[in-house]
Order: sequence, then C-alpha cells, then structure tokens
Amino acid sequence: MTAKSMMPYVQGNSAIRAMFEEGARLAEQYGKENVYDFSLGNPSVPAPAEVNQAIKDIIEEENTLMIHGYNQSNSGYEDVRQTVADHLNRLHGTAFAAENIVMTVGAASGLNVAIKTLVDPGEEIMAFAPYFVEYGNYAKNHGATVVAVPANTADFQPNIDKMSEMINEKTRAVIINSPNNPTGVVYSEETLNKLAAVLEAKSEEFGAPIYIISDEPYRELAYDGVFVPYVTKYYKNTVVGYSWSKSLSLPGERIGYLVFPSEMDDYENAIQAANIANRVLGYVNAPTLIQRVVARCIDCSTDIDAYDKNRKVFYEGLKEAGYECAYPEGAFYMWIKSPIEDDAQFAAMAKKHNILVVPGKSFACPGYVRAAYCVSYDTIVNSLPGFKKLMEEIRG
Ligand code: PLP
Repeated sequence: MTAKSMMPYVQGNSAIRAMFEEGARLAEQYGKENVYDFSLGNPSVPAPAEVNQAIKDIIEEENTLMIHGYNQSNSGYEDVRQTVADHLNRLHGTAFAAENIVMTVGAASGLNVAIKTLVDPGEEIMAFAPYFVEYGNYAKNHGATVVAVPANTADFQPNIDKMSEMINEKTRAVIINSPNNPTGVVYSEETLNKLAAVLEAKSEEFGAPIYIISDEPYRELAYDGVFVPYVTKYYKNTVVGYSWSKSLSLPGERIGYLVFPSEMDDYENAIQAANIANRVLGYVNAPTLIQRVVARCIDCSTDIDAYDKNRKVFYEGLKEAGYECAYPEGAFYMWIKSPIEDDAQFAAMAKKHNILVVPGKSFACPGYVRAAYCVSYDTIVNSLPGFKKLMEEIRG
C-alpha cells in the first residue's frame, strides 16, 4: 500500500495534472497559438551556444573516467567549486574558497540539503508570503514546518515587523527569495539590513542562531540594472542556494550550488553536514558532466532582453486594461491582483479566454494570480485583448 503520508501529495497532484490536461485540451480545440499558457516557469530562451560547445569540448578534451565518475567529495569537483568561489568573489567582493561551496542537484536539492543541515525535526522555517510552494514540502521532508509570514501587499518586500512578532524558540531558519517567485520583486538593501538586525537580536534572545536560507535561482534575471544585494554581506548566518536552471536555461540538467560562509556559526560542522546530507539524501553528487560545463560557462548568461521585452509589454498592457500588478524588477513572473476576491474563480474565468494563470492560494497569498511571462512575445501580445475583455466582463 502507498504510504499514507504521500496521499495528500497524490491528491494535490491531480489538480496540477488537471491544469496540464486542460491546457492540452484547449490547445487541441483552439490551436496552440490561441492558448495563452502562463502557468509554468520553464525558461523560453534557449541555453547559450557556449553550453553545447562546452559539452562537446569536455567530451573531446577531458578524461572520460573522470567526467562520468563519482566525485571524490560529495560536495563536487574541487576545481569547479574554486571557479564558483572566484566568480562570486569577483562579482560581490566576497572571500569564498572552494571549501565554502557545495555543488547541488539544482536549487531544489540545495534547499533540501540546507534544511537537512541546519534544521532539526520539529523546528520551524519562516517564509514570506507569497512564496514558492515547494518550500513547505522540502521542510516536511525533514520533519520541519514552514510558517507563512503574511504578505506586505503595499510593495511585497518582506513583512519583517510581522516576522519579528512571530519568531519563537522553534524558529531555526528564514527562507528568502529575491528576485522573487511569484512577485518579481527584488529585496532592497534596506530590507536586508532590517532583516539582519531582527535576526541578530532574536538569535541572541533565544540563544541559538536563526539562519537565512537565500534561494537565488533568479539572481541573474534582474532588469534595468537593479541592484540585487548579496545576502552573506548583510548577515553572516546566511546560506545561499543558487541554480543555473534559469540563468543558463538548464532546468533539466539539475545543477546548482550552496554557499556556506566561513564566518557563519558552527561553520566546520555545517559544511561537513552539508556534504554528508548530499550523500544521505541520495543525490550523492551533482551531475558531473554539467558541473564541468557550468565551470567553463561561468561568465555566460542567458538573453534576458527577451524576458525584459515581455515584461514591459505585459506590465503596460495589463495596467492599461485596468489590472494592478506588483512592479516586476526581476525573475519572469507577473503578480496580478485578482479583480474579484476569489483568485481561483478569477483563474477559472481567465480560462474561458484561453488564459492560464496560477491562483495565489498556491503561494500562500490568496487574492492574486501569477502569470509566468517566460513565453513567446506573441503569446504576451495576443493574450492582452483576452485580459481586457475579462476585465470588462468583471466590471460589467
Ligand atoms: N526556488 C524557486 C523560487 C523556484 O522558482 C524554483 C523553480 O522554479 C526552484 C527553487 C527550483 O529550481 P531548480 O530547478 O534549480 O531546482
């Protein structure tokens, strides 16, 4: 018999499957080009040519046994980790070394490794609504729970005052995500300074460090030169999780890393525990060939101009049609206020115009919907009349 603990996931999954099936059904009925599917955060820009070239070059130039073998350390190739550390130091003026880096199977496994490393069963992790729904599942994998801090709907910067009231002796970590999925908001320096001050005071009050886990798969997707602060510089007890899923459009390759700064409390144990967590959670090591690829492509980036063009026309078009959106400074999501109270009903109404969006309830923030604009430019432009009609229908 299937484990009882998995049954809520199985039931939840049928809702996701129903959405996929609905998208496929609409595409069949109306033609793919007439369905505006904003439901998935799958990059629409191909990986840079350098990635494929690097794969070919590595296969030709490097030792086959080595590139397909187990890594000696569960944290990954030493030279790749050094390349990552040097890159971060160049960009952010930090002082990381290979020892501070653990290569991971994307951000998803990185978050699991970070939670397993830092959080004991029964402890709590705070997350600021709206947040990536998988955080709750990852916490549960390790017997921990995510506690949602209500959204600050004024500008979707984290509600730190509320967090401060909610923190208790069971709080071991706070997950932040900037540029943010689903709002597109970038957390400001002011936010990070305030967050750091509160966490320092609360760590002191409760006699144990409260860590920040900074989930950063969208770090490189920031527009108009907006500054995305590097969180370890504001709070030493920060573990950064990064991924190339979005920045090099490699989500299927499953590659990322964690940074554990030497200054963090209990660093020596934490870095060893993370290495072991990679092993005992069954990831063993990040995929080896792709570790070598990202090291060769460390200075490459995806074409964010395509997302930026979508962002501008989508934001302006929605505004013109009467929608209120958080101003997206990064990532590739538009966070739209539902013009009616029930966001699920609004999503259902949108579907009648062949527009697929995800209700805010899925991000612990009802009253909004998320539209992923990592789609073709034509999809954005052609969806706008539907959004307009939908608003007219609602306004009556
Ligand atoms: N964190 C956030 C906020 C995400 O949006 C995603 C994927 O969409 C992930 C983590 C997982 O990314 P990865 O593909 O690197 O596991």
